[in-house]
Amino acid sequence: RYAYVNGRFVHHDDAAVHIEDRGYQFADGVYEVIPVHDRRLIDEGPHLDRLEYSLNELRIGLPMSRRALEMLARELIRRNAVTYGFIYMQVTRGVAPRDHKFPKKTPAPALTMTTRQLPKPSAEMEEGYSVVSAPDMRWKRPDIKSVSLLPNILAKQKAAEAGCQEAWLVDENGKVTEGSATNAWIVTKDNKVVTRRADNSILSGITRLSLLKVMEREGYELEVRPFSLEEAHDAREAFLTSSTNFVTPITRIDGRAVGNGHPGILTMKLRQAYIEQVVHGEGG
Ligand code: PMP
Repeated sequence: RYAYVNGRFVHHDDAAVHIEDRGYQFADGVYEVIPVHDRRLIDEGPHLDRLEYSLNELRIGLPMSRRALEMLARELIRRNAVTYGFIYMQVTRGVAPRDHKFPKKTPAPALTMTTRQLPKPSAEMEEGYSVVSAPDMRWKRPDIKSVSLLPNILAKQKAAEAGCQEAWLVDENGKVTEGSATNAWIVTKDNKVVTRRADNSILSGITRLSLLKVMEREGYELEVRPFSLEEAHDAREAFLTSSTNFVTPITRIDGRAVGNGHPGILTMKLRQAYIEQVVHGEGG
């Protein structure tokens, strides 16, 4: 298995970065996870758009042209024979003697890529996920896909210790912002799909964006607004979206059954439509 590290393909076991890389010192960097399905990248364009957005917000340069990034990603997927899974890319501000402010002489941004092979996802989801709620303790710019993920890690660990697959983060107003690594959705008793606006308070998920397009095409009723944890507890259905989970039903929140405790009907329709139109289709 290979990794890409600052200009070279190296064996994954030998892949290493400098200890004064600002990503290592300060988490001064960003990342992307692009899903691979049947050897193809899903929604590559929007993922690279978001990478550029994150870099721009932090005033880190794009390490190379988009075209070159795309070629490298494809080459790594080919070398590692990835069929299903994802490619991970990380860009940091680069290597410089440790000092909080940006280095005077701008270092070359550091670029690394790795891949992961995962089991082939299925259209059916027999069991839904369970989630626990946790306070959203993140900084005020989760729209930047920064590698600084301590609050996300702690929330996900809380979920794991509670036997759950994800944590839903709740802001100081009692509203769910998003999951530790997924976007959050509910379906109301009158079959309206609810998700909050992608402002600075959440990461604008690429799966979320593509699903919104699918829903518009199919004429689903949508309400873009924050929802509270109580509303989620009482919702008919709940689900999450992310690049590796697609659309995944949630059947328990804080130990309480959502709806009848089984994956929601509307949720499963959305999962299938997403898989047909985005995963198997041209991609969003
Ligand atoms: N929110 C957070 C905090 C995430 O880390 C992720 C995963 N990248 C998502 C939402 C879902 O985003 P996407 O659909 O682009 O994977």
